[in-house]
Amino acid sequence: MATVTMKQDTSVLASRLARAADTAAARDLDAVLISPGSDMRYLIGAGEESFERLSCLVVPADRDLAPVFVLPKLELLGYADVPADELGVEFVTWVDGEDPYAKVSEVLRGGGASPSRVGLADTMPVRHSIPLRDAAPGVEQVLASAVMRELRIRKDAAEIAGLRKAGTAIDRVHARMGEFLRPGRTEAEVGADIHDAILAEGHTKAAFIIVGSGPHGASPHHDVSDRIIEEGDVVVVDIGGPIPEGYNSDCTRTYAVGEPKQPDVRETYRVLYEAQRAAVAAVKPGVTAESIDAAAREPITAAGFGQFFVHRTGHGIGLDVHEEPWIVGGSTTVLEPGMAFSVEPGIYQPGHWGARIEDIVVVTDDGVASLNNQPHELTVLPA
Ligand code: ZN
Ligand code: ZN
Ligand code: ZN
Repeated sequence: MATVTMKQDTSVLASRLARAADTAAARDLDAVLISPGSDMRYLIGAGEESFERLSCLVVPADRDLAPVFVLPKLELLGYADVPADELGVEFVTWVDGEDPYAKVSEVLRGGGASPSRVGLADTMPVRHSIPLRDAAPGVEQVLASAVMRELRIRKDAAEIAGLRKAGTAIDRVHARMGEFLRPGRTEAEVGADIHDAILAEGHTKAAFIIVGSGPHGASPHHDVSDRIIEEGDVVVVDIGGPIPEGYNSDCTRTYAVGEPKQPDVRETYRVLYEAQRAAVAAVKPGVTAESIDAAAREPITAAGFGQFFVHRTGHGIGLDVHEEPWIVGGSTTVLEPGMAFSVEPGIYQPGHWGARIEDIVVVTDDGVASLNNQPHELTVLPA
């Protein structure tokens, strides 16, 4: 895939690069080394995917040194929209037959520097991280998330606007579910229509489409299958993807196609509904991530369904569908304004049916804003 460049305010990117340098310095790193992926898009507005040829943005902790982007000459045009001059980023290209790892090592040792510790983008392929280690022996490698987490975990106003736009776009897809989800159709057929709707409502692609009907609903990460949806099925629909600004949607609603055939659905769903509503209502600055997990989990456990809620309550979201903060037991991360994450408890009855309710929420100055606003009740579609 070609490099996708997002329209980004140059001053925003400049301040992110500066904060990355300062945070690296505060973490005793000499530089962070960023491969294509969401960390790179966050810093320079471009860099979709890593390939076998090394592309590596070196951001020195010393702000007097320029960030240097070492990349294959053939990839250069893909980064034509990066405002390199305004950002003070130098491009260093290499051609096949040259050693790009030696070039990165040279950059790190520029001006007589002797680096001792660098942060590597968490998603950098091992095919690059090990040659980088070999090219700079004695330089300790740690995860760059020590730096990037600090920057990305709190979203600025433009990022929240992007997440909100993605949220309303996926809400419009859920609002149309009655067009797609009918008895006699396969999950795959329904998924194909949802795919088209995700694009039609303003996403650049569908990152994932889960249509878990009947017993498939009990598998949280099911995708789609050739199972034919029957009258009375409960169907978990979890869908999302990025909008042109790069920010992702991720929203789950649970539907019944006609009146649910299992007698326990209504009562069990009520427990899930109350738990999800309570967990969203508990979100505010100053509380811990684990307290939100507990707010969802305790009522489900109290009703006897604890063993059927088999995953954490949520995950952060932004340029990645899954990023920090993790809303999970044991996380003492304190919620702060600008953090955005999912609240998505589920109850899964193996072999029978499952249900999940998922909203993306943002921590505000005094509470919470939900970016997904379709009804949370079990939505009974005409059979
Ligand atoms: Zn998931
Ligand atoms: Zn989801
Ligand atoms: Zn999710």
